[in-house]
Amino acid sequence: MIRVGVNGYGTIGKRVADAVAAQPDMELVGVTKASPDYGVEAAARRGYDLYAAVEDRTDAFAAAGVDLTGALDDLLDAVDVVVDCAPSGVGERNAPVYEAHDTPVVFQGGEDAAVAETSFNARGRFEAARGADSVRVVSCNTTALSRLLAPLDETYGVEKARVTLVRRGGDPSETDRGPINDIVPDPATVPSHHGPDVNEILPDVPVDTAALKAPVTGMHTHSVNVTLETDPDSAAVRDLLADESRIFLVPEGAGIDGAGALKEYAADAGRPRSDLWENCVWEESISVSGRDLYLFQNVHQEADVVPENVDAVRAVASDVDAAESVALTNETLGVGL
Ligand code: NAD
Repeated sequence: MIRVGVNGYGTIGKRVADAVAAQPDMELVGVTKASPDYGVEAAARRGYDLYAAVEDRTDAFAAAGVDLTGALDDLLDAVDVVVDCAPSGVGERNAPVYEAHDTPVVFQGGEDAAVAETSFNARGRFEAARGADSVRVVSCNTTALSRLLAPLDETYGVEKARVTLVRRGGDPSETDRGPINDIVPDPATVPSHHGPDVNEILPDVPVDTAALKAPVTGMHTHSVNVTLETDPDSAAVRDLLADESRIFLVPEGAGIDGAGALKEYAADAGRPRSDLWENCVWEESISVSGRDLYLFQNVHQEADVVPENVDAVRAVASDVDAAESVALTNETLGVGL
C-alpha cells in the first residue's frame, strides 16, 4: 500500500483525497487544512484524519471544536508520498519541509516547473517521474493540451499547434475572482505561458497559445488549430481521439451545447461534484482542411488533473507502468463517459 497525505484540502486537494481513497493500492493517511472552515466538515464526513497545515494555527481548530490528529510534520512522518495542493506559490514555500522529512512530493501546476525534478502527465511523462523525489502535475489547461497533442503528434506529426484558451474567470466557490462583465486578454502578451508548459511534457511539439479570461466559472474552452505533417480525414482524427481514454467526444446531436449542459450531463451520470475528468472535445467541431485540423474542447479545471495526480503518486512510489496505472485509475474513478 502506498501511504498518501494531501497537504491543502481545497478545490484540488479534496478531489485528489477522494481519488486516492478509492485506489486499491493506496491508503489516504490524512489531509491538512489551513483553517477550520466548511472543508473540515467535508473531510470529517468522509472519515479522513485531519492535520493542521500550519502548526501555529492549531489553536484556531481547538477554538472551533475541531479535533486534529496532528500537524503537517506528523503527517509527513506517516506517509510515503505527499500531494501538495496548497495555493499557487505556497507549494514552493512548502518544498523545504518535504525535503527535511525526506518525503517525496507531487506538486500542482500553479507552481513553476523548476519546483520539481520533472513535470508530469500520464500521457507524456510517466516514466520520467519514476522514483523522483518531486514531480509537478501540470495545470488543468496544460494537462488537457498534452492529452490532445500527444496522440496527434504520435500518429500524424504536429508541425505547429495554435491554441486560443478562453479561461474561466474563477472556480465556482471563488467569489472574489473575475471579470464579471468583460472578456479580458490574460496575459495580454502572446504567447501565453501555456505553450512553454506543454513543452515540459511534449518538448518536440511546436505550440503557441494565447489566453483570455471570461466571466464564467464552469469550464475553460480551447479553440484549437493544429497543422499536421500528414493530411488525415476528419473521421480518422475522430476515431483516434475516441480511442483516448481521457478524451470524451461530446456526441453530435445530444443537445449538449456548452459547459452548463456538460456539467448537467456529468451530474446525471452520477459523477461526484459533477466532475469531468476527461477533455471534452466537441465531436462536430473536428474539421480537417488540407493539413489543418480545427476543433473545440472544454476542460473542467477542477477535475481533469485529479486522475493525473493518482498516476503521479504511482509513478513516484511504485513500479506499476503507465498503461496499468492509467487503467486502474480510470476503472476506480469511472473515467470514460
Ligand atoms: P484552493 O485555494 O481551492 O485550495 C488550496 C487549499 O490549501 C485551501 O484549502 C487552503 O486553505 C490551503 N492552504 C493554505 N495555505 C496552506 C499551506 N501553507 N499549506 C497547505 N495548505 C494551505 O486552491 P486550488 O484551486 O485547489 O489550487 C491548488 C493548486 O492546484 C494550485 O497550484 C493551483 O494552481 C492548482 N490547480 C488549480 C486548478 C483549479 O482550477 N482550481 C486546476 C489545476 C491546478
